[in-house]
Amino acid sequence: MRDQKLHHILKETFGYDNFRFEQYNIINSILDGKDTLAIMPTGGGKSLCYQIPALYLDGVTLVISPLISLMHDQVMNLKEYGVEAVFLNSSQNYGEAQKAKAKILNGTVKIIYVSPEGILSGALAGFFDQINVSLIAIDEAHCVSQWGHEFRKDYTRLGELKERFPDVPVIALTATADAKTRVDITNQLHMKAPSVFVSSFDRPNIKYMILERSDEIKQLDEFIKTHHPDDTGIVYCLSRDKVERVATALNKLGYKAVPYHAGLSQNERALNQELFNIEEKIIVVATIAFGMGIDRPDVRFVAHLDLPKSIESYYQETGRAGRDGKASTAWMIYGLQDIVKLSQMLETTDADENYKKVARFKLDCMLALCEAAACRRSYLLRYFGEIGAETCGYCDSCIEPPTLWDATVDAQKMLSTIYRTNQSFGAGHIIDVIRGSKNQKINDRNHHALSVYGIGKDQPKEHWNSVLRQLLNLNYIHIKNWEYRSLALTSKAQEILTGKIKLELRKQDESVARAKTAAKQDKKRVASKTTGAAHGQNELFDALKDLRNRLAKEKNLPSY
Ligand code: ADP
Ligand code: MG
Ligand code: ZN
Repeated sequence: MRDQKLHHILKETFGYDNFRFEQYNIINSILDGKDTLAIMPTGGGKSLCYQIPALYLDGVTLVISPLISLMHDQVMNLKEYGVEAVFLNSSQNYGEAQKAKAKILNGTVKIIYVSPEGILSGALAGFFDQINVSLIAIDEAHCVSQWGHEFRKDYTRLGELKERFPDVPVIALTATADAKTRVDITNQLHMKAPSVFVSSFDRPNIKYMILERSDEIKQLDEFIKTHHPDDTGIVYCLSRDKVERVATALNKLGYKAVPYHAGLSQNERALNQELFNIEEKIIVVATIAFGMGIDRPDVRFVAHLDLPKSIESYYQETGRAGRDGKASTAWMIYGLQDIVKLSQMLETTDADENYKKVARFKLDCMLALCEAAACRRSYLLRYFGEIGAETCGYCDSCIEPPTLWDATVDAQKMLSTIYRTNQSFGAGHIIDVIRGSKNQKINDRNHHALSVYGIGKDQPKEHWNSVLRQLLNLNYIHIKNWEYRSLALTSKAQEILTGKIKLELRKQDESVARAKTAAKQDKKRVASKTTGAAHGQNELFDALKDLRNRLAKEKNLPSY
């Protein structure tokens, strides 16, 4: 009975024949009244996991969503499917909010999107008590966790909802799956014996390519020409200035490219986004402001000209390629400047030290992906806690294995140092010991007396960082304690220590190593600089404006 009704809603309302991934099990878990955590890759179809129960159940479903633009898109989408939905947030004026509330009290609305501060604020508390809430969905739930890449302070109070609506099941949805974040989400939301569903993160139709930067425009041009000459794609850059520079350059090379970043007016952004959705062979050059709300299934490539700050971001951004399941490419170049820029940004934020530690670790994991000698896909899957095949056969590392160096002896030194210091220290201290540094902590622990003290003083810090990252990445060591990020050997480590296995690592460009060290030394000087130079002007290249206006005219869109 329930089964029939669910399939009926899927088909009649949304027009789909089959549930995807764990959708069916997730929906049933909610309908059984259980608190549920759903982890599914970007584009996997998380929305239906709460939208279908919302339609199935009597009463109203509250959806907590972090971004106003996201709520807006979702409500518009649902309206197209004929589902009554409204949002309540700070972008509305008094009249609009009153109108939405009246609709809700009428009983016609099935789904309400609301921001975390909205649902927790005193102003609306009384209002929500008057309505029959049947389900609470927390979208982008990784925002509750400091371990997530988009921590939001107002998400941390969402646990209060369990006290306010003790009998209402809660579903949390996210694409971020590392174990620590998962536990954090269920704890912070005060979930009771949650059911957890994890769908595979593998995107078999995406081919991963990562190379070192030399001349970025030339490299990008070559990549597009060779792999996707007639396709639609997204090019991500870190800064607004760079977005405009790259869009202009592509335009000059004869591509149809439009820029997208938060510095453009709302109208300009809307136009460029719309052009991206309907125009053939178009390339959007964007900052990460461009993302949520893209619904184009045939994006054939996502190119990163700057390193994302975490694997989660990388995965989410590259995941916008190939939603239709057809062959697509995630291409990235990285190098010296990225590490400098990202480290500077990180060191100069006023976030607390614990947050910075996490962020540094995440950046290191991102770097390890770039440095990985082995299959990119298997690295990504392992990061998200999935054990898959060792090689995929079609990422760049699989197709053209990188130059390697014999790192067996250095790996042995590293593993011994971790072992001799009782497997209870983090990377920083271990590298200090191996390099024979002099500091208080080494004195206090008497670590200068160890046989391993100074055995690696011939190599710079970054060399050891790289060895350590790659050992971690290859699962010879693991993080024993997340709070202190202390490292310990895995059972695999024996194979290296006994010399049974020879370890080969990808050769790293030395300039990358130097850049990172320099960034840290530089951080004070830069702190004062970056605040001053923050927002450059965004003078759009004339030809870009012309192109956009011509396209808008062809498509009957208002131009700006
Ligand atoms: P997520 O929030 O996980 O990133 P969305 O919920 O936005 O993903 O869904 C991504 C796309 O997949 C949407 O276009 C949606 O309509 C589509 N989709 C969801 N479930 C199904 C399904 N069972 N069959 C086909 N398409 C689906
Ligand atoms: Mg979503
Ligand atoms: Zn591979």
